[in-house]
Amino acid sequence: MPLEDKVAIVTGGAKGIGAAVSEQLATLGAKVVVNYNSSFKEAEKIVNKMKSKGGQVCCLPGNVADEEHMERIAKLTRERFDKIDILVNNAGITQDNLMVNMTSEEWRKVVETNLNGVFNSTHAVLPAMKEQNSGCIINMSSIIGQMGGVGQANYSAAKAGVIGFTKTLAQEMARYNIRVNAVCPGFIDTSMTEQIPEKVKEKLMKKIPMGRFGETQEVAKTIAFLILHGTYITGQTINVNGGMYME
Ligand code: NAP
Repeated sequence: MPLEDKVAIVTGGAKGIGAAVSEQLATLGAKVVVNYNSSFKEAEKIVNKMKSKGGQVCCLPGNVADEEHMERIAKLTRERFDKIDILVNNAGITQDNLMVNMTSEEWRKVVETNLNGVFNSTHAVLPAMKEQNSGCIINMSSIIGQMGGVGQANYSAAKAGVIGFTKTLAQEMARYNIRVNAVCPGFIDTSMTEQIPEKVKEKLMKKIPMGRFGETQEVAKTIAFLILHGTYITGQTINVNGGMYME
């Protein structure tokens, strides 16, 4: 098992892309802490499924936007598994609105979850990784953080921020053998993209050379590649977007 003895935390790891990542890492032998905010049933389902296959998986509640929650998750992970090798900062939300109509609440909520959340979880695990002199952090950005998107000023700004954060952290942490990379999915089939109206989906499809939305496993496999084989890759932004052109 290539990730045997490795300990991973996946934020928002019970649903969508996060669930695929949790399962992928557990299948590769990692001990996985599946963080969830509201999806307790889904988290429990993954834990039971992976346990029945012999995996060491548990779930912990926590809101990534709350610094204390993430500190607690890091503490409990160390108590249970002794260390933290991998952090996948996957949790994210959308609250779309045209900028002229966007409320400060919509702006704040998305930035607090998608950007501050990445800060909170990372800040909580860095002492363990520094102590171990090794670690791997994957931050979920988005194609929208690269090219913008109508009605998504909040989401785009937060996801662009994640890319800047990734590049800086990679430079600061390289000396401790901690690699930090961002993954930028294009459009992936999850509850997040379910909300897109059919007409908009048709238009989007024309912009995707591969002619389809991606699958959650395709993002999860890219993350597994970065963890397992990307031993000289840090500070990078890996696009998983079916060849979608970034305008
Ligand atoms: P999803 O199915 O809606 O899942 C979102 C996940 O984030 C859920 O597990 C949710 O947990 C978690 N989450 C939300 N707020 C949280 C909070 N405050 N604290 C902890 N967890 C929280 O969406 P998805 O498509 O899988 O998205 C996963 C990530 O990929 C996000 O960062 C998203 O921005 C990014 N992304 C998605 C796409 C796409 O096309 N789907 C494209 C580019 C990037 P609970 O359900 O427990 O609340």
